[in-house]
Amino acid sequence: MPSSFSKLSLAEPLARAVAEMGYESMTPIQAQAIPVVLTGKDVMGAAQTGTGKTAAFALPLLQRLMKHENTSTSPARHPVRALVLLPTRELADQVAQQIKLYAKYTNMRSAVVFGGIDMKPQTIELKKGVEVLVATPGRLLDHIEAKNAVLNQVEYVVLDEADRMLDIGFLPDLQRILSYLPKQRTTLLFSATFSPEIKRLANSYLQDPVTIEVARPNQEASTVEQHFYSVTDEEKRHALKQIVRQRGLKQAFVFVNSKLGCARLARSLEREGMNTTALHGDKSQDERLKALAAFKAGEVDLLVATDVAARGLDIKDVPAVFNFDVPFNAEDYVHRIGRTGRAGQSGLAVTFVSGSDARLVGDIEKLLKRKIELEALEFDEDRPRGRINDGRRAWREAGEVGDPRDVLDAPRERERAPRPQREFRAPAAPKDPFFDQPYQPPASDAAPAWEAGAKPATSRLSNNIKPKRKVAALFKSE
Ligand code: AMP
Repeated sequence: MPSSFSKLSLAEPLARAVAEMGYESMTPIQAQAIPVVLTGKDVMGAAQTGTGKTAAFALPLLQRLMKHENTSTSPARHPVRALVLLPTRELADQVAQQIKLYAKYTNMRSAVVFGGIDMKPQTIELKKGVEVLVATPGRLLDHIEAKNAVLNQVEYVVLDEADRMLDIGFLPDLQRILSYLPKQRTTLLFSATFSPEIKRLANSYLQDPVTIEVARPNQEASTVEQHFYSVTDEEKRHALKQIVRQRGLKQAFVFVNSKLGCARLARSLEREGMNTTALHGDKSQDERLKALAAFKAGEVDLLVATDVAARGLDIKDVPAVFNFDVPFNAEDYVHRIGRTGRAGQSGLAVTFVSGSDARLVGDIEKLLKRKIELEALEFDEDRPRGRINDGRRAWREAGEVGDPRDVLDAPRERERAPRPQREFRAPAAPKDPFFDQPYQPPASDAAPAWEAGAKPATSRLSNNIKPKRKVAALFKSE
């Protein structure tokens, strides 16, 4: 198996772009997937973000499309030939940026479309003609409906982060989009896990795929030093500052479970003199991209984020990740700590565990299949005199719960949908019966707009987003 890009005989413009990116050798997913994709076969790849999977599909796909490369200004000479679908705007934006870099020295055009921002500039770009279109499903359907995107010449389709797309409830949208594509095409599916639903999706849409698995699903990055500190809720902020100081950390991600908790923590850290920005679902797309750019440029030291807002963010070399709150879903733990220790760098992942988090830590233990040792943190002299955590306090920290959407950083638009199938698990202590019930997503159960022949809404939570329990039924009805 080749490990150097030079062995791939990539077209000169692509090889030049790769060299400019500073890539020395292929990552495992690239070494396995690129030669297969170059043959035009379908691929089912298990790989997490951060493994180099974007280049693993983008480079061979661009290589195969080089035969269509032309300098004509006519849009007709630049039909969409490759479609890359992703679950979130941030992910779509980042993948599109990477593809632009790889295609930089070619005459192939690429564009990205996602919801939450004006359709007009996207429409103008689409009308000029693009060979590679990166999109989130909802917005792509809007452009298809508006006849801005024609997909009958697509040769490649990539379903990236397919598990996340199903989690969000994009299956009907995906089915609809795939129905517009030519049957004769190459389909590449990437997913962190091969759940039964992912396998069903693959069975329905992939032909004789080559399966590539580079890291066991839900595996922790071995380069990440992990600590779980037992603290009270009142001690968390102090603990965070102390570790940042003691370790001399320049930048870190801080994960919280609610958007209100996120905004509040960012504000209080900022007040205490730390250069902090919040990234959560209530921020506009523009604000979030700006926050991300500021963090990438090193203008911000701490990025406080919710899972939904941070999903898929491609930020390399973050020295540390703090789980200010233990995530509600154990899987999110793996995703969170995947932000550090990437591309061979070592990283630090610190989780603050307070009295009511035992069950959530137990879930992480089950997922990682190992025992987690809780450590005590030796505080500096000026540690806060914390009150005993009574659980209810934890909930207040988590966002003055009243509306469950606050807790889960629920979406305001279609791509920011919650993962409705997940059971909403409250920490053990609160006795309020509200929290003993499974989380009910706010999405309406009405028939999808497109089924009723209506134009899908563009700015609110999509009716297409349905609870996951319906996913299996959708497959069965095929
Ligand atoms: P991805 O998993 O595609 O999101 O990639 C994660 C990061 O790894 C991106 O910032 C890429 O630029 C980087 N990357 C991808 N391939 C390589 C490579 N062969 N060598 C070094 N870095 C890479």
